[in-house]
Amino acid sequence: MKQRGVTVWLTGLSGAGKTTITQALEKKILDAGYPLEVLDGDIVRTNLTKGLGFSKEDRDENIRRIGFVCRLLTRHGVIVLVSAISPYRDIREEVRGKIGDFVEVFVNAPLAVCEDRDVKGLYKRARAGEIKSFTGIDDPYEAPLNPEVECRTDLETLEESVNKVWQKLEEMGYLAKPVAV
Ligand code: ADP
Repeated sequence: MKQRGVTVWLTGLSGAGKTTITQALEKKILDAGYPLEVLDGDIVRTNLTKGLGFSKEDRDENIRRIGFVCRLLTRHGVIVLVSAISPYRDIREEVRGKIGDFVEVFVNAPLAVCEDRDVKGLYKRARAGEIKSFTGIDDPYEAPLNPEVECRTDLETLEESVNKVWQKLEEMGYLAKPVAV
C-alpha cells in the first residue's frame, strides 16, 4: 500500500498561529490514521540546525536543511508539517521545487495583532533592542504571493484555519485512501 506524501509548509510571523494550527492539524491527521511527522522551527534550531543564527545566509541554511529532511520523508509517503517563520520567498520556492509535493500555508495576521498577542514575549524584547534582526521588526518578512492556503488567524477561528488546510489536502488528493502498488 502506498500513501502519497506531502510537505505542508506553514510560514508566517512569530505569533501568527503556525504552532497552534500545526498541533491541531497533527491531531486530526493522526486520528485519521495517516503517517505524519512534524518539524517545528524552534525545535529544529536546537538540533538539526543548531548553531545557525538569523542572518539571511543562516536563515536560508536553516530552511534548506529542513527542506532536505522534508524531501526524504515526503518521498516515503509521510505527511510532513513544517512550522517555521521562513521569511524569505526565494528559499521557500527553492524548497518547493525540490520537494514537489508541497503545500504552502500562509499563516497571516497583521504584525500589530501578532505583537499584541506576544505569545513568547519576543516582540517586547525586540522592541527593547534586546533581540536584533527580529522578523517583522527589523528584519523582513516576504509574504507568499500564491500560497495554496491562507489562514487569516485574526479573522477566523482555529477550527476554520485547520479545516481550510484539511480541505486543500483532500482536494489535492493527499488524504485519499492509500492505494495498492
Ligand atoms: P507561531 O507558532 O506562529 O509563532 P503560535 O501558534 O505560538 O504562533 O501563537 C498564535 C496565537 O494566536 C495563539 O495564542 C493562538 O491561540 C492564537 N490564535 C487565535 N486565532 C487563531 C487561529 N485561527 N489559528 C491559530 N492561532 C490562533
